[in-house]
Amino acid sequence: MTARVYNFNPGPAILPLPVLNEIQRDLLDFAGTGMSILEVSHRSKEYEAVHLETEASLKELLGLGDDYRVLFLGGGASLQFAMVPLNFLPTGATADYILTGSWSEKAYEEAGRIGRVHIAASSKDTNYDRIPHPDEIRLSPNPAYVHITSNNTIYGTQWASLPSFGEIPLVADMSSDILSRRFDATKFALIYAGAQKNLGPAGVTVVIIRRDMLEKVPSHLPVMLRYDIHAKNNSLYNTPPAFAVYTVMLVLRWVKSQGGIAAIEARNKEKAALVYAAIDESGGFYRGHARPEARSLMNVTFRLPSEELEKAFLAEAKAAGLVGLKGHRSVGGLRASIYNAMPGEGCRVLAEFMRDFARRNG
Ligand SMILES: *Cc1c(COP(=O)(O)O)cnc(C)c1O
Repeated sequence: MTARVYNFNPGPAILPLPVLNEIQRDLLDFAGTGMSILEVSHRSKEYEAVHLETEASLKELLGLGDDYRVLFLGGGASLQFAMVPLNFLPTGATADYILTGSWSEKAYEEAGRIGRVHIAASSKDTNYDRIPHPDEIRLSPNPAYVHITSNNTIYGTQWASLPSFGEIPLVADMSSDILSRRFDATKFALIYAGAQKNLGPAGVTVVIIRRDMLEKVPSHLPVMLRYDIHAKNNSLYNTPPAFAVYTVMLVLRWVKSQGGIAAIEARNKEKAALVYAAIDESGGFYRGHARPEARSLMNVTFRLPSEELEKAFLAEAKAAGLVGLKGHRSVGGLRASIYNAMPGEGCRVLAEFMRDFARRNG
């Protein structure tokens, strides 16, 4: 067996080892069917149990009741950039976007291909190193919805507290921080998340939608783009990404076994503090991209004094079993993605490596 590394990739990302072991153990015979989960019908009662458990678990973990539905869709979070305005931005109305990074820009641009959009706030002027202050947010007169990105995977910033705009439907891309901390999910009309960061493998996108929103969906849309059709058919209008949903189910079981979101949040705070301390105590050798008050618990972005040192850092880290640390090209430098499945030990080893590297090269 090859040794496992500490995987800091931004997505697809690390999965909990017990989940991978369970998948391996049950791969050839799923739930006593004598078939792999990859082979069973999505109309079978065995798969139905997976589907129902995954929806129920997610709602339970997020504290949501019958007024919400959970959908399992394909197309990634990127398809949601289009589906949200297709379903909820009628002609003549305006949708408001708060820009906090590349993913929210993409969501905004996609919505602009469909209808009228308004930038309610943006932190682009400082290269997305912060989250706009509530005082900076200027909504349009009667927005169809407000869209935010709760965690900015590329820049390493995160809304410290999530906003709320009363009756105006609030939509959030939570791809890179769903289930990482407690928040009031009942404040949201729709939450979407590609699974490949905190929930499971690539291939399924979770959409959590408040039931009343389903009534707003225009019937002229192609059916595969309609939230109400997917909801009415329990996400089984067509073949769902069954293996990905099954893996999400196992990840949710694992989250519960860890003590739920509150316990995961406490651990995530400790983990992030270890890595940020290595930055802050380096006497300027490491420079964090995010302003301290906007720092993400999930993606830690930082630079070294030169690109040569960044290259050397990456190579030495890899040799030490710390992989996936290269930053996104729009920020440069390094990024440690420390999602729920990253054990505390991974963050301790990384912080120790950072201190040692700074001592030797500072
Ligand atoms: C990764 C990511 C996306 C893109 O997800 P896809 O599933 O590849 O479309 C969108 N938004 C955020 C915040 C992300 O981190």
